[in-house]
Amino acid sequence: MKELLIMDIRKKHSNLIPNEIQGTLRGDCLIRIEVDTSSPMYEEIQRANHYVRKELKDVFFFGWNYKRIYTEEELRNARLFKMSVRKYFEPCGRDCGTVYDTSHVCEICKSGERQVSPLYTRKGSYLNNRDVASTISYEIVVRKRFVEFVKDYSLQGLSFGPVYVGKRLSSDIFQLMIQGCELDFSERSVFGVRPFDYSERCTSGPKPFNGEVYKCPKGDNLGFNLLSEAFVKDCDDIEKYDFFISRQTIGVYRGLINQRHILFCSPRMRRLILENKIRGFDFEIANVV
Ligand SMILES: [Zn+2]
Repeated sequence: MKELLIMDIRKKHSNLIPNEIQGTLRGDCLIRIEVDTSSPMYEEIQRANHYVRKELKDVFFFGWNYKRIYTEEELRNARLFKMSVRKYFEPCGRDCGTVYDTSHVCEICKSGERQVSPLYTRKGSYLNNRDVASTISYEIVVRKRFVEFVKDYSLQGLSFGPVYVGKRLSSDIFQLMIQGCELDFSERSVFGVRPFDYSERCTSGPKPFNGEVYKCPKGDNLGFNLLSEAFVKDCDDIEKYDFFISRQTIGVYRGLINQRHILFCSPRMRRLILENKIRGFDFEIANVV
């Protein structure tokens, strides 16, 4: 596996980018770079970030993303894949009348709220040219085509709920319910706010962010973001189902953008999604340990 960290670095700090890295201008103020996390340049970037934050009291980079490239053999041998949804849209279900029960949420990190009504959403172009999309609140909608695909291939572990578009029950859009077989993250998974920042809570900045708990002492929410590949604990269920969610969540509770579970699927489900040209999911290998 080759892991690249893609970062949008502020142009005013471009003198700190190693000469070997060729960046591309993004607008007037940012330079996008890609750095191999196993290269010495990665350590230079880490040092530059530390210097800008600690000495200059400034921000070194804004956007970031990891790109992981696998060999054919690694893909062939994988037992599990992490799935992510490429397209996010607004408004979220809560803004359109979807009801949540918050009576059992964790008193520290507020994770654990439950959707207790059908998903209500608005008309939009979010499913144009794709079969899956997610609201910014991690409510996932799929086209009927995906529901039929799951039935046709008897994929195990997925369930779907009704979706109202406005007041009308949709016959083409369904909700992919985030429930089913749960997998535990292993300690090898690395969580943090952003690359090089492994904060477990917010200790500065304005309210309401200051004081937010990212790593809950109760173990239900593990961090703001998953920074490494996913590592999950082995269990018999991995061979029995095609779709899984992480038992623990990541993220933070902010009313609309809340904690979310990570999605996983079997190698068979990934292969069938690719073969049947189901559009809108991205995959990475999830390590079973
Ligand atoms: Zn908690």
